[in-house]
Amino acid sequence: MLPQILIISISSVSILIIYMIKKKYKKTLNQFTEDGKFYHQLISVDMKNFNCKPHLFEDNLCNKWCSLSYKKTLQKFISSANLSICLCVYMLTLQSLNYELLMAHKRGVIIRVITDKGMIQTKPVKAHLKKLKENGIPYKMQLSQQSMMHHKFCLIDKENKELAKMFFGSLNLTSQGLHSNFDNIILTNNLNIIERFSEEFEELWNLF
Ligand SMILES: [Zn+2]
Repeated sequence: MLPQILIISISSVSILIIYMIKKKYKKTLNQFTEDGKFYHQLISVDMKNFNCKPHLFEDNLCNKWCSLSYKKTLQKFISSANLSICLCVYMLTLQSLNYELLMAHKRGVIIRVITDKGMIQTKPVKAHLKKLKENGIPYKMQLSQQSMMHHKFCLIDKENKELAKMFFGSLNLTSQGLHSNFDNIILTNNLNIIERFSEEFEELWNLF
């Protein structure tokens, strides 16, 4: 009887140890996946996307790197906002993203947009900004001739550590940016990065 109890005890302890090691390993892995508490995703626009222009308009996904999938990811990201959106981007002409901003605004999400004077020089951009303003979404722009407001980042729900997330990189929010340029952005919920970009946003919002 005694050896049986001993075997059962040793087996139980072994299973427990394996479970704890697996749990710890899984936690470490989750820091680098979309499934856990920590999140990051890279959107890279490159030669794989150079034939994707029609896919954006035909709703036709050519593969998992298709520009259409990137556009949908960005739409989903913006539409997930509960509290606030702070968008700081040199160029914004993607109609679908403008639509998501307007929808979020209607849901009561506080939206602020910062851009550059360069945007206002083209008709479509002018029309987009006009629409935002007409709907009560405030925007500010860098007017200085000395420098450009060349950032491309967007903070979502930055006030709440559990919900906060953002994207940043080189991609302008235009359809050309999604299929014709070499560009990238990273989507993440890393709080250190979010805090740094939040400071930058508030500084620019007060400055312009
Ligand atoms: Zn495609």
